[in-house]
Amino acid sequence: MNDWHEQPEGGYIVTPPEWVDRLPERMKDLGRDERRKVPIPIMNLKPDGTPNFMVVSNDTVQRCGREALCGICGKDLDYWIAFVGGPISAANGAYTDPPFHVECAEAAMHFCPHLNRKVHRRAPDEKMPEGSWKSEGAVEEKPAQWIIGITRDYRMLPWGQGVLFQCNIRHRRVYEYDEQGNLQKVSE
Ligand SMILES: [Zn+2]
Repeated sequence: MNDWHEQPEGGYIVTPPEWVDRLPERMKDLGRDERRKVPIPIMNLKPDGTPNFMVVSNDTVQRCGREALCGICGKDLDYWIAFVGGPISAANGAYTDPPFHVECAEAAMHFCPHLNRKVHRRAPDEKMPEGSWKSEGAVEEKPAQWIIGITRDYRMLPWGQGVLFQCNIRHRRVYEYDEQGNLQKVSE
């Protein structure tokens, strides 16, 4: 629902719905980063309950992979499983970020500060803590496209300090930055 505020001098000011109202139902109980106005995916949650959007928690990624949980909302995966990465990840069917619900991945394309803008100014609190590594979404050089790769299942392999998810991508949803540097969906 949009909010309409009648003005004493006549007319109305219309404010768009709160961002939380536009989230998938299963993301609405996530903690929120009020400064950035975004929900905090469970994979970006540090043990002290604060977010770090630059890195993912090694433990959380592995737990999501083993227990087939979404790395964003933390709930059981659906029939279709989504992975997010650039064209090379999609071509190889290889990802370091955990599996997601398709709708949570789509929402992340809009709210994740590392995905939705081509240029992202890193906040001073985004440092590399123990037990985490750089998320693919946090690379300095962003790929020309972000692709939601949709699959039915995946394999987990040890990879450095973390794991690599391998899968056969069945469907793709492709996103590109427009001239203003905003991420837009360009194909289903
Ligand atoms: Zn989810």
